[in-house]
Amino acid sequence: MTNLGHHKEQSASALIEGAEKIVIKIGSALLFNPEENGLQTSWLEGLVSDVARLHRGGKQVIIVSSGAIALGRDEMKLAKGRIRLDEKQAAAATGQIILAQAWNDAFKAHEITTAQILLAPEDTETRRKHLNARSTMQTLLNYGCVPVVNENDTITTYEIRFGDNDRLAARVAAMMSADLLVLLSDIDGLYDKNPSRHDDANHIPVIESITDEIMAMGESANAEFASGGMATKLAAAQIATQSGVAMLICDGSAVAPLSALSDGAKASMFTAKMAPSTARKNWIAGALDCAGTITIDDGASTALGKGRSLLPAGVTKITGTFERGDVIEICNAKGQLLARGLSGYSAAEAQMLMGQKSANFEAIIGYDGRAELVHADDLVLIT
Ligand code: GLU
Repeated sequence: MTNLGHHKEQSASALIEGAEKIVIKIGSALLFNPEENGLQTSWLEGLVSDVARLHRGGKQVIIVSSGAIALGRDEMKLAKGRIRLDEKQAAAATGQIILAQAWNDAFKAHEITTAQILLAPEDTETRRKHLNARSTMQTLLNYGCVPVVNENDTITTYEIRFGDNDRLAARVAAMMSADLLVLLSDIDGLYDKNPSRHDDANHIPVIESITDEIMAMGESANAEFASGGMATKLAAAQIATQSGVAMLICDGSAVAPLSALSDGAKASMFTAKMAPSTARKNWIAGALDCAGTITIDDGASTALGKGRSLLPAGVTKITGTFERGDVIEICNAKGQLLARGLSGYSAAEAQMLMGQKSANFEAIIGYDGRAELVHADDLVLIT
């Protein structure tokens, strides 16, 4: 994984070209305009041509798309102005079908398969669900699909939800160890003052650290004219950059907004200080709650040292109570701590699989589980 967004002189388009895994967030206002023919199909086609070009170049792309509530309200002919929460949730259920269909049709023209993923905060935050969401999404990417993600608005509890797709997109980017998050906005980046009111407002092209001064710009100067609000975009930037994901805010309204960047369109770039894989390993290494310990044989210890995954066949002892996704410690036969990692199985299942080859897993636990007890991506060696 490359460490992107590290160099001051790097342009927004160079950042995109250098990324391997990109999350692109699209706001409702870009996709849907109730005054002008509703769904902005030709804009969507332009964006998808841009994305298809990246996809053909071998990049893995995840779309985070808003618009379900706006489309659903229109389809259900709900009253203008404020609507109740249950009406919003109902609208999301209707609109999500239309939204997913629109993305599917636009990508189909480029022979790219899409997949719909609806998430709630716990899906990206609790470790157990995080592993499931991460591995499903990674499998889709490996098969060349473009996942289209939104919040599961219809069934989320309104108090427990992301609420805005800027932060949802940042969490998805962090969970997937993406190199880059692109927020397509109605403004071409962060300004120190509101540019529509102040001629002397300065555009900020590169933000290397999200200081209080930068946060204050989000709260005051930009809040009135950026639809999602610049404050939530800066909150997204904090989540992303802490996880090693660089972030771009750019104007999404152009016909092909990503290509526009190579033609010199302005953007604000938030740099990340470390690679996403390093950030993930720090997160695992720094977890305070270790739920159990696994002792492994010499063969497995050697394999771990070479960067391989831990398989149940090399395990000799398991202590503690843990669930899939919990952090566990891994010790060698002498009891020395070798590594920490996220367990792919619960303690009860791991007990049953200990010493076994993967061909026997289904007969033992009743389903054809994954081969690794701790996947190499979820494992950090303690030296
Ligand atoms: N999930 C909402 C929707 O699809 C949008 C949230 C947002 O725009 O930030 O309608």
